[in-house]
Amino acid sequence: MIYLDNAATTPVRREALEAAWPWLSSEFGNPSSKHELGLRAHDALEKSRERVAKFFNARPSEITFTSGGTEGANLAIIGLALANPRGKHLISAKTEHEAVLAAIDFLERQHGFEVSWLPVDGEGRISPADLSESLRADSTLVSLMYANNEIGIVHPIAELAEITHQVGALFHTDAVQAVGWLDCNIKTLGIDALSFSGHKVGAPKGSGAVFIKARFAVEPLLHGGGQEFERRSGTENVAWAVALATALDLLEDSTAESKRVEKLSKKFIDDVLTKVPMAKLSGPTHNRLANIIGFTFAGLNGETILLELERRGIICSSGSACAAGSDEPSHVLIALGYDPDLAQTAVRFSLGHFTTEADLDQAVVALVDSVT
Ligand code: PLP
Repeated sequence: MIYLDNAATTPVRREALEAAWPWLSSEFGNPSSKHELGLRAHDALEKSRERVAKFFNARPSEITFTSGGTEGANLAIIGLALANPRGKHLISAKTEHEAVLAAIDFLERQHGFEVSWLPVDGEGRISPADLSESLRADSTLVSLMYANNEIGIVHPIAELAEITHQVGALFHTDAVQAVGWLDCNIKTLGIDALSFSGHKVGAPKGSGAVFIKARFAVEPLLHGGGQEFERRSGTENVAWAVALATALDLLEDSTAESKRVEKLSKKFIDDVLTKVPMAKLSGPTHNRLANIIGFTFAGLNGETILLELERRGIICSSGSACAAGSDEPSHVLIALGYDPDLAQTAVRFSLGHFTTEADLDQAVVALVDSVT
């Protein structure tokens, strides 16, 4: 099997699981307990927080462990919007992940927020000028993803955050697909909040964390014992925090790794476009993640291509992979102005840290076989 669905999830790194094991077995203490077992668990949790904070160049008190990207985005968006009531205006874009779209929808439906949706062009780009124009005196929060999970476009987060701050609003970025591939130094990015997920970087599903600047109040989603600096109640998942910190430590230098995969991905894109006449790359040719490659195949059916590829041992997904169980065309491609019929032909190949040139050569052969 050649696994080219790394944007959906990644295998857990052995080192991460091994580091987690003691905290699931002999060292099973509750980090809030005051006996030795609890104190050791607490220490492991806090050391993991320090390692995660270091990865993002943040302070440990600014890292809240979560169950993943969805919870992190919800906590950042809902938590910041409700606790920092500058006004009731939010800004985002329709190409965001459902985690962000649904959190914003909740604020609109249940808390009377007004939302401005920034336009995107045919390749998924957002214009900083459009953000400037949309910002208002009552804008509370802007949420724009670092890199898109279907078409790989990378948004100019530092510039967008700077524009947002000119009116005093807060900026959150969903960095789920960016971690491991792009520079995630929160100081360079100049952002107020960043959410990410463990299972995209070799940590277990259900692990993740969110960075939220310490000086901002956060309305928690979960109420209870006040763990995680009152930002997320509930007994902490020490083992997954340890696994997450270990997986982050194991990530290759993101620039070097992006360069390696960029080379592979360029050749793969060229090969597909040359050998499959109806293939068209979705999203931009520049300012994109090296590892996420979406194509449409006009006149064919995306689901059929996926099945044919799977029969040949190639695992990838349709453009709408995250809308679990849905056969609706990708909301991202629709936002880009694609015809729904063309959007239904989308196939996404997402490369990982273990993908090789030989894997991709085999995928091209299988794709040519699948569509002819
Ligand atoms: N944001 C993006 C861009 C994603 O790709 C995903 C997962 O696919 C999420 C958020 C949700 O992350 P999780 O699965 O950890 O909840």
